[in-house]
Amino acid sequence: MTETKTEEPLNRVMVIAAHPDDPEFGAGGTIAKWAEAGKEIMYVLLTSGDKGSRDPLVRPAQLATLREEEQRAAARELGVQEVVFLRHPDGILDGTMELRRQLSAIVRKYKPNIVMGIDPWRHYQLHPDHRASGTATLDAVWSAREWHIFPEQLAGDEEPWRVKEVYLFWTDHADYWEDITTTIDKRITALTRHASQVGTDTAKLDERIRERTRKVGEPHGYEYAEEFKRIQF
Ligand SMILES: [Zn+2]
Repeated sequence: MTETKTEEPLNRVMVIAAHPDDPEFGAGGTIAKWAEAGKEIMYVLLTSGDKGSRDPLVRPAQLATLREEEQRAAARELGVQEVVFLRHPDGILDGTMELRRQLSAIVRKYKPNIVMGIDPWRHYQLHPDHRASGTATLDAVWSAREWHIFPEQLAGDEEPWRVKEVYLFWTDHADYWEDITTTIDKRITALTRHASQVGTDTAKLDERIRERTRKVGEPHGYEYAEEFKRIQF
């Protein structure tokens, strides 16, 4: 494919995250807004959140099934079209070359113009899965655009794929704010679908989300906003 100067619409978005509920907590309002605007949005979840319980008797496999259902329901609320689960083990996600290779293949297959993910460089990002997910996301975006990286993925007439923009959430270095005033309700509803994680006290969740997004929006003149570090290629 030849590079042209005409602006192509950035209409395909891939959200890559470690756990079910990360996309909604990180960018749910933006995802809903972009979906309403006609963007095609898909999720790639690296784990199924199978350790996300403080109940020592819960079985990880059971929890994974439940959390995948919750994630699909939350994604539906936001207008997300597809959710892919890679089913790596939760809590011990490894940023291996295999993970990078796997994500590179997925980026090359689905060809998103925009990738959203976790900022791996947030100071004191203590969750190892969040760090691993963020790093693997960026490494995959980089690998996918290179002819000589994972060339076995470029069989036939497949070509490298160049993502145009990356939006990192949970960042210390935000430089992009999305006004989510019209989709804050969708974000909250989507979060309530993760009942195994957020419980059933939806009033408290509602308050917490509004408070946080109001704080982010206020300095920028928005009632509610989400913030990102944006990288443009
Ligand atoms: Zn998480």
